[in-house]
Amino acid sequence: MRTSLLNHRHGHRTQFWRTESRRRTNFVPRRVRGAARHLFDCWPQVRDAVSSAGRIALFLDFDGTLAPFRRRPGDVKPLGPTLQKVLERLAERKRLYGYVVSGRPLQQLRELVPFRNFKLLGLHGWEGRRRPSLVKELRLLRKAKHLLEQGLSTTSRIWVEDKHLALAVHYREASARDVRRGRKVVEDILRTVEPSIHLLRGEKVWELIPRRIDGKGPAVLAVLAGLPWSTLPIFVGDSMTDESAFRVLPRGLTIHVGANRRTLARFYLRDPGEVKTFLRKLEGALHLAQ
Ligand SMILES: [Mg+2]
Repeated sequence: MRTSLLNHRHGHRTQFWRTESRRRTNFVPRRVRGAARHLFDCWPQVRDAVSSAGRIALFLDFDGTLAPFRRRPGDVKPLGPTLQKVLERLAERKRLYGYVVSGRPLQQLRELVPFRNFKLLGLHGWEGRRRPSLVKELRLLRKAKHLLEQGLSTTSRIWVEDKHLALAVHYREASARDVRRGRKVVEDILRTVEPSIHLLRGEKVWELIPRRIDGKGPAVLAVLAGLPWSTLPIFVGDSMTDESAFRVLPRGLTIHVGANRRTLARFYLRDPGEVKTFLRKLEGALHLAQ
């Protein structure tokens, strides 16, 4: 029996999915928002799906998923040796394609994930794929940066991270009053740079980003389009920006990281420690299939 849980909307994959959706009804009950189940409670079914899959595309977010969340992105340390070794061993498996998909710029990701076996996709999956240049958008972002610096000068603990192709406005440490004021500033500036620039909401961050950088969901689908049709996608992520990937993979193995179970993912893990355990278990499941 074929094992892909991928729902593709185009061509022969559509037919495949229709067949699979009937066969696979016992794998996981139809998902309801907020009804994610703990991954390890369903491990026997998950392990069977993994070990019988033709190929696996493993997409991992970085902050809050592989690495514990830190107040400031600059405080996050590169991956520890244990986790790095697990990932390296996974990437050695011929039938596994590994990706780290992060909102961080590619340059930062390269320092934090210092090995080449996983493909790194920065800026929500935009960087690392061949894409057109964004000249007009860059000009608008420079303008927005100037306006943000002016508009946010009277708020405290809201700061702007310049990612070159995006501006991330971090408000994690700000008071509720300053968050309200900051939101108003961001929304007003957004109106002057729309529609070429849009707003992505992340974990205590507003991100002004070119609309053509359309987020992790479209990025994941673009990657999968180049892989064999029987590939089982696995996506692990912790924040709102990961929900767009969960949305486009209704029959993939989608895993939300964190206590909040209001997610489009089928499964959840509590923290990056459990993600590490999952990666070890995944290695075991792949080993079983050999
Ligand atoms: Mg994250």
